[in-house]
Amino acid sequence: MEKWKNGVGERVETNLKKELAKAESVIEVQMYNRVTGEYSVQLTNSRCLVVNPSSRECSCGWWQGQGIPCKHAMTVIKKDKKWVYEYVDVVTRLPRRQHAT
Ligand SMILES: [Zn+2]
Repeated sequence: MEKWKNGVGERVETNLKKELAKAESVIEVQMYNRVTGEYSVQLTNSRCLVVNPSSRECSCGWWQGQGIPCKHAMTVIKKDKKWVYEYVDVVTRLPRRQHAT
């Protein structure tokens, strides 16, 4: 088995960095719903998104689609003092060219 730093592949790492480098900035992160663990994320372009780290969803749709936390989710995860790589889908972490033996 291949060993990866941070437990994710280089492709995931690159995508994470690309996503972080986006110009769209987060102004404020607030607890939105304590029961569901959702956070509201206010953006500079006056959009407001909802991130749910436990269900791995962001209302921008990126997280669910890519299996990698989007910039908004990353901001929330950081604020929550969690490790962003824990939130990368296990499926995404596995190398696609290999088959489990
Ligand atoms: Zn998002």
